[in-house]
Amino acid sequence: MAKIRRGCAPAVFLILAVVGGVAGFFGWRWYKEQQPPPPSGKELRVFVLDVGPTDGDSILVISPEDKTVLIDAGDVNRGKKTVEALKKIGIQRVDYFIATHSHADHIGGAPDVLNSFPIGTVIDNGLQPPEMQTETSTESADQGKVKGKKPAPKPTPRPPRGGQREPLSVIAYRNYKDAAGASGAKYEKFPPDQKQEDVETDEKGKKKSPPPPEMKLDLGGGAFLTLIAPVQPFFTREQMRDGGNEPNANSIIARLDYGDFSMLLAGDAEAQTEQRLVSKEMNISAKILKVAHHGSKYATTEDFVKTVKPEVAIISDGEFNRYGHPAQAVLDRLKAANVKLYRTDLQGQIAITTTGKLKDGRLYEIKTEKDAKTDVWAGREGQYDDSSRKGFIAYGDFGPPPKPPREKTTKKK
Ligand SMILES: [Zn+2]
Repeated sequence: MAKIRRGCAPAVFLILAVVGGVAGFFGWRWYKEQQPPPPSGKELRVFVLDVGPTDGDSILVISPEDKTVLIDAGDVNRGKKTVEALKKIGIQRVDYFIATHSHADHIGGAPDVLNSFPIGTVIDNGLQPPEMQTETSTESADQGKVKGKKPAPKPTPRPPRGGQREPLSVIAYRNYKDAAGASGAKYEKFPPDQKQEDVETDEKGKKKSPPPPEMKLDLGGGAFLTLIAPVQPFFTREQMRDGGNEPNANSIIARLDYGDFSMLLAGDAEAQTEQRLVSKEMNISAKILKVAHHGSKYATTEDFVKTVKPEVAIISDGEFNRYGHPAQAVLDRLKAANVKLYRTDLQGQIAITTTGKLKDGRLYEIKTEKDAKTDVWAGREGQYDDSSRKGFIAYGDFGPPPKPPREKTTKKK
């Protein structure tokens, strides 16, 4: 027996070596297939548009293969300016329009954009403004037959009384949805609806959530835009800390990758959103961070900045915003993380170009429309101190934006 065993040993080793070699080869091929293709060497461009003078976001991505993505379109009265800016850059088509959330400073300008260019696909998170959700949830409760309970009578819709108008966010949302429908674009919702079969149970019958879904848009030439949030279950109003709100917390967040270049677009995320991304160990590290919520003090937490580890932070905010954006506390946190800071309120449109690899010793180049006249590290004061307010702060709670300051007069009556 011992003799036979000894005689078998080389054969066993040979078989193991062959099996190991084949497995290694397929493993390596699988790994290579998982890797994004190398950058084509052409330029990818990102423009953080200046949609001031009040707050708003509108960010254009032009891929190395000239695919275009527009993330948000600025405020209601900024649509035409956004269109002008896009035409000046030279785009003729928007392949993807992404609405991060239902607030007017992100979708208000969308109808003008959607009416002005051929549009490929419109993507949003499918969440209506909270003021509309109340109507819908009442409706769906009526439709769903609850055992032993009489369905509640349908509320009669109240016609708007003279002078009484619908909230701005509702008007803006409706106009955006109408324009998206009329544009003939394809519509996709992110994240997609969670199906019952997606929720697995473990041996103890405890519900196990699948990993959060991602939507990966292939922009060509080795560039990808991956939508990574919101993650379900969506944040509710009750979960919000003072000063936060759930449309912001459920913003679409995306990561742009091209070779060694990466950019995280944080929408109007709240601290809770950031916390969720950090705790789920999602891939959020990026060279450039589009700072969440115009530099609000309720986001850009120390933990989040440490995980993203950006080299550059860009704040899209308005010179005459009422909210105290960007907050000094946020600027201090970014400064402590040693980032280079850019702001649309002080420097106008911000343009980033990259070939996805080092070129003349640089991975990317950033150009601003103008030089900042004041210190980029100085924050703004809010029109009101909202720190003592409890719960939900709706968009537009603060009334009309202040007019640009005039020369002070010292005359006394
Ligand atoms: Zn916003």
